[in-house]
Amino acid sequence: MTQEYPYKKILITGGCGFIGSSYIKTLIENYHGFEVMNLDIMTYATSQKTLDLFEGHDNFQHSHSDISDLETVKKIFTTFSPNLVVNFAAESHVDNSIYGAAPFIKSNIIGTFNLLEASKSLIDNSNFLFHQISTDEVFGDLNADDPAFKEDDPYDPSSPYSASKASSDMLVSAWGRTYQMPYLITNCSNNFGPRQYKEKLIPKIICNTIDGIEIPVYGNGLNIRDWIFVDDHTETIIELHKKNIQSERFNIGGNNEIANIDLIKDIMKILELKYELSPKIKFVEDRQGHDQRYAINMNKTDKFLNRKTDYNFFNNLEVTVDWYMQNVNWWDE
Ligand code: NAD
Repeated sequence: MTQEYPYKKILITGGCGFIGSSYIKTLIENYHGFEVMNLDIMTYATSQKTLDLFEGHDNFQHSHSDISDLETVKKIFTTFSPNLVVNFAAESHVDNSIYGAAPFIKSNIIGTFNLLEASKSLIDNSNFLFHQISTDEVFGDLNADDPAFKEDDPYDPSSPYSASKASSDMLVSAWGRTYQMPYLITNCSNNFGPRQYKEKLIPKIICNTIDGIEIPVYGNGLNIRDWIFVDDHTETIIELHKKNIQSERFNIGGNNEIANIDLIKDIMKILELKYELSPKIKFVEDRQGHDQRYAINMNKTDKFLNRKTDYNFFNNLEVTVDWYMQNVNWWDE
């Protein structure tokens, strides 16, 4: 039995990416009473195979468009007239932003600005919401004993990527304040799961091992991240959409801090025991400006949603490894 979705006309950006595709998949499989328009320029980080998962569904439309092109964005907003905008689209890899930040400024900042400009004409529609998908990286980093990030902590981004996300979040809250645009900003920790491009840590561990290449570990491997399974992130997004939100921020995390080296060892264990592979690691020079620790305080979100989260990290890690073992060619033409 599917449930009725609280928003009828949903404009999603970056819906063929890692997290956006989890959101659309969950919508299509579990909900009815909505139409989706997906704007995605289809960068290297996504795949035609991801789009194929959705095409053919009656309530799904796709536009191969660039959110940094204002005229196109405005045209799509006028024709589709969404009452919910969920902005997943972004350049998302920190290392790429260090080598060249221009695409991050264009897609993440100009792109978000264009979506906000196009949304201005829809603010008066009843039940309009602009949802900005953001990251815990906007808060900067923490020392070992610091308390976890809270929603009202000041932004202090370290990398060109996190600075571009912080800038776009600030544009969203400014549109809320200046134009009374209802908005939701969710800051989430590191996601893992199927369809994440191979450049990111967890897919790289698995794909390098399949290809017989050593797994690079930055610095001493002791940087700490909080990890959440991608479907747990998108389920939380959906639970928030079921509430009446008028300009709010919520943290989303996995209650699951782990040092990179321990995460790598956990995955190596699955690869060795379940797939009889022989993963090998090599320590490499640390990432420039590498943040030491991220941790997310989810009390506000859990209280608002009246829930207690208890995620099954190890089971979902195995689900993720299994997916890559079966779909290692997902990005090949
Ligand atoms: P991703 O790189 O897998 O997907 C990004 C998607 O955006 C791709 O489909 C890409 O084609 C599209 N896109 C990029 N530039 C575009 C443009 N100019 N116009 C239209 N489409 C464009 O990224 P992801 O991991 O799915 O991240 C989605 C969002 O979640 C991002 O905003 C990211 O900052 C945020 N986030 C990611 C994580 C994580 O761990 N992956 C954690 C917290 C927040």
